[in-house]
Formats: sequence, C-alpha cells, structure tokens
Amino acid sequence: MGPESLESIQKSALEDILKKYPEKAQKDRAKHLGVGLPADESQKTCGGVQSNKKTVPGVMSQRGCAYAGSKGVVWGPVKDMVHISHGPVGCSQYSRSGRRNYYIGSTGVDTFVTMNFTTDFQERDIVFGGDKKLTKAIEEINELFPLVKGVSVQSECPIGLIGDDIQATAKKTTALINKPVIPVSCEGFRGVSQSLGHHIANDAIRDHVFTSKGSDVGSTPYDVAIIGDYNIGGDAWASRILLEEMGLRVIAQWSGDATLNELRNGPKAKLNLLHCYRSMNYVSRHMEQEFNIPWIEYNFFGPSKTYESLRKIASQFDQGVQDNAEKVIAKYKPVMDAVLDKYKPRLEGKKVMLYVGGLRPRHVIGAYEDLGMEIIGTGYEFAHNDDYSRTTHEIQRSTVIYDDANEYELEAFCKRIKPDIVAAGVKEKYTFQKMGLPFRQMHSWDYSGPYHGFDGFAIFARDMDMAINSPVWGHNKAPWDAA
Ligand code: SF4
Repeated sequence: MGPESLESIQKSALEDILKKYPEKAQKDRAKHLGVGLPADESQKTCGGVQSNKKTVPGVMSQRGCAYAGSKGVVWGPVKDMVHISHGPVGCSQYSRSGRRNYYIGSTGVDTFVTMNFTTDFQERDIVFGGDKKLTKAIEEINELFPLVKGVSVQSECPIGLIGDDIQATAKKTTALINKPVIPVSCEGFRGVSQSLGHHIANDAIRDHVFTSKGSDVGSTPYDVAIIGDYNIGGDAWASRILLEEMGLRVIAQWSGDATLNELRNGPKAKLNLLHCYRSMNYVSRHMEQEFNIPWIEYNFFGPSKTYESLRKIASQFDQGVQDNAEKVIAKYKPVMDAVLDKYKPRLEGKKVMLYVGGLRPRHVIGAYEDLGMEIIGTGYEFAHNDDYSRTTHEIQRSTVIYDDANEYELEAFCKRIKPDIVAAGVKEKYTFQKMGLPFRQMHSWDYSGPYHGFDGFAIFARDMDMAINSPVWGHNKAPWDAA
C-alpha cells in the first residue's frame, strides 16, 4: 500500500466515522480528529486537532481524573513518603500499583509505593467532615512507620464537594508529627482529565517542597536532575546508567524511585532533563524562572532517538562530556545493531496504531521506526496543543490523529486502516485482542520493561516481535465475526 492510498483511506475512514455521530457530537468530535502529514510543519497542531477539551458526555473515554494525575503519576512514586488517598476507598484501590513504579527499599519500613493508604470515607464523614479522620490517619502512619519522611494528602472528589479544609489539617499535622504533610487539592472533578492533576501536583512541589531544604549534596558542574521519568519497569534506572557513564551526576530523579530529599534537591541541578513533558513541564518552567535552571527535553526510546538525545544533552556541557557521549554511543551501538539485526527482519513494514498518554504517542515513534515499522495512527488521552505540535515533527507519513479517542473510533479506525499491531492502554487491550489483533499495553509495558535507554530497547524489540509474530493470532477469530 503506497502512502497516497493509505492517506485517502485514512481520510475517508475519518469522514465515515464522523457520519455515525448525532449532529452535535459530530461537530465536537470533528475538531479532535484529523490526518497529520509531515509537511504540516507550519500547522499549529498535528492533524489540526484541538485538545484538552471536555469529553463528549456518554462516550467511553479512556481518560483518568485529576486525582489520577497527581496520585497515580506524580506523587505516588515518591517512595519514602506515604500518599494518603483522602476520600472513599475506591479511587485509592483502583490507583494502586497499576503503574509498576519500581523502587529500591524495604516496603513498609522505609518505602511505601505499593502500599495503599486511604481515609476510607463513609456516610458520616461526608455529613460531618473528614478532618478528624485525616488527622488520626496521619498520626497513626507516623507511629506505625517511624521512618516515613512525610505524608501527602491526595484529595478525591468528595473532599472538594463537602469543603474539607485539607490545607489547615496539613498545617496542624505537620506540627504534630514534625514532618511535612503536603495537601494536594487534586479532586477528580477538576479540569477535563488527569492533566490538571499533574499541574496541581507540580504546584504542590513548588509550594511545599521547595520551601524546605534538602541534604547537602555538594556541587559539581555536571549535576543534572531527571524529570518526568516514573521508573516504570525500571525505565529511570536504564536511563540513569547512560547519563552517569557520560560523566554526569544525577542528583535527583523525579519521581520514579525518588525520595522527598531528591525532590528538595531538584533546584540544585545545573540542568533539568525532562522526559515526560506533559506531566512535569510546569515545575521545570518554574525552576527555570525561579532558580535559573535550564531544561531540555530528551527521548530515550529506541537507539536513534537515544543517540540523538545523548548528543543533545552532552552539547550542554564541556568537550569531556561530549567525548564521553560518543564513547557511550560507540560502546552500545554494536549491541543495538545486534538487536536490530535480529528483530528488524521480523518486523519491517509492519504498521502500528498508537493510543497512549503523556509523551508516548510521539516519543515511541522513533523506536518503532528503528525496527522498520510505520506509525499510521496516533493520539493522546489527555494532551494539550503543544503535545500535538511536537508530534508533527515525529511523523514520517500520513497518520490518523485522534485526540481523546473513544472505543468506537479506535475500533472503526482499526477496521479501516488495518494496523498489524495496536499499542495502547489496558482499557483497549482485551477489545483488540478479541478482534484478533496483536496488542501491547503501553502504560505499564504489559508487565514487561524497561523500555527506556539501550537496555530497554532490547526488551521493547523482543516484546513487539512476541506480540506480532505469535502463532496465537492464527487461532483467534473475533467472537462477532465467528457468529
Ligand atoms: S473522578 Fe473522583 S471519584 Fe472518580 S476516581 Fe477520580 S477522585 Fe475518585
């Protein structure tokens, strides 16, 4: 299939999909669907789509809420703090351990990431308020886990609705336990998706973490902070190895395998290295304005982007670091070439449809392309326009772009543009597998990983091969086709 014919299929699929909607929904969804072209450089957003808008009521959105953005993404991985999900138990239970934020430490002793803490609201708490319950929970936590370094209070919806003053409770309990208690007003109803939760979480770091001092780590010209790597399946570890081999000193890792002290020490970095722009650009911009720390984005998915990023990062430092970057690339290139020699012949020409959040709808494109695969559809659950404008620079051919896509649209696009693999979230996984389509879950790497860095790419390539070339698909027919 040539690029022209695929482009026309993509455009007619888009038109047909929209026709199925009632008039009002059609008008709304038309703004969020498009076909992006590499020549669209001047276009404001890839495919001309609009983003960060309210989901059409009644459709099955794949988005999370502000609480999910704060607790599930930004604060949850900070390992030596307890993050209380303040409100009913459900939000807490469903946000627990889903992201596979790996860490080093003794769970329940000095590390708490995979434990679930909630104030478990009941009717009487909704009626009479939960301040006392929250105070008691914080005191108990401090007593049961004396090595805990602090507590964050992650508000669920009812807290904002009944008007509980978590700021006041946090202030009171900070004095009571003599450790920071950080209130985060990330009630799920705020904003249109988890995206606002990231912003609120970043603001809480600004207001409650930067106001206290971290430990003395000294100072070198090579101090950097990794920002927006959540160490899913060990991603941050695979990335950190490369930065350290290059001669840089990673003084803070936010927030996968992070400590409260590392958050505090962030402003001591000479350069912030930002991986997930969507979730951490706010605090990076703040550190630039307030502490004069520049930040750059990097991409450690796939060897080509990793080589490019290592050079980009090194260019911010002296010749010694730049020479080291070349040595690191020279060391790992044969390893990466061997991975490509093994997997590229098995994957070349395969077409990929992506649908994820954060940075992955654009950052993983290069990794697939290294394997000779093509991206024919991509989109974000909760992006802003600047994510889509960044995506324009990554696509190599006509690509369907869908913002806040729903199940109907994803299935319909799949049937029309016929990808060889779908790489999306857990909510999509079983639908597409039942359709007989190879699938990889790209939120937590389908219980695999890491996918970042050179270590990660070897695993990524193996996983894509396992998904696409598994003989299981020959035995699988969609139940609705069989009927
Ligand atoms: S929207 Fe509200 S109730 Fe639902 S998960 Fe988020 S915080 Fe909990």
